Amino acid sequence: MGVDIVELAGDRLLLDLPDDARRAYAEAKATLALVVAPPSKRRLQPIAPSADWRVDLAEGCPAPCSYCYLAGSLKGPPITRVYANLEEILAELPAYLGKGTITSRSAKRAHEGTTFEASCYTDPLALEPLTGSLSAAIAWFGRWEADVQLRFTSKFADISSLHGLAHGGRTRMRASVNPSAFARFEGGTAPVAARLGALREMALAGYPIGLTIAPIIAAPGWEEAYEALIGDAAARLADVPALDLTVELITHRFTAGSKAVLESWYPGSALDMGERGRTIKRTKFGTEKSVYDAETMKALRGFFERRIADALPAARILYWT
Ligand code: SF4
Repeated sequence: MGVDIVELAGDRLLLDLPDDARRAYAEAKATLALVVAPPSKRRLQPIAPSADWRVDLAEGCPAPCSYCYLAGSLKGPPITRVYANLEEILAELPAYLGKGTITSRSAKRAHEGTTFEASCYTDPLALEPLTGSLSAAIAWFGRWEADVQLRFTSKFADISSLHGLAHGGRTRMRASVNPSAFARFEGGTAPVAARLGALREMALAGYPIGLTIAPIIAAPGWEEAYEALIGDAAARLADVPALDLTVELITHRFTAGSKAVLESWYPGSALDMGERGRTIKRTKFGTEKSVYDAETMKALRGFFERRIADALPAARILYWT
């Protein structure tokens, strides 16, 4: 691909990044490290509300979304680390079978089996053309004759290596979508229409699918924008036979830390991270998040529940947050 490849003598990644925050950010985003996931990274953690366990095929994402949640969860320069020891990572999973505490203990979702989320710290489809890790993981779950589900969500659309796989119905792909009016916050990702097209192709290939509507942004005109988005999704999926469709609804939120990081990476962004219409929510880990206030949340939630019931009656809403 004509890129520079640097082999390191040891396992420390010393980056010579410029002092200027934006240039350092751009260089880091353009850096991909092929590394070995150590045992500490291979121990799985629960990941509410999506899945019983988080499984990481990579950490970091090359896209430049100005509301990316990774700004708050990954520390340091935003390089992407992809894991080389995929077989070792996957070999850990059978030990977690039947031990989930999130979806496995939910009356509504226990039928999904033990669930493993691969999109917590990365967008695995963004990296698939470089690594093949996602297709390898899907094929691995396809061979795992157990009550399990691999889950991933993506703002990308190149599913050419996925739709022919023997997936066994044990992988659910969700498209992470927002109205095209907010596309300027998601530079470098696939157009939303392409994501919906990819989702449709995956459904036709027998995969269970889903929509991750995230982050939901209550900017002026949100009702019309999301109305159109839900309508587009319904039109793309209308004739899919035996459609197995879920919806996850995640409102925009940020911490003081993630806001500071995002503002240094995207100065002057039109993304509203002000205090108006927001309230502080304390998490069970003692940290604080800025979320929409109760009145805005109520209006958003009511709207989404009504519109999804009308336009996508086959869909199951998994959670609202
Ligand atoms: S595609 Fe997802 S993970 Fe990647 S930068 Fe955008 S929001 Fe973050």
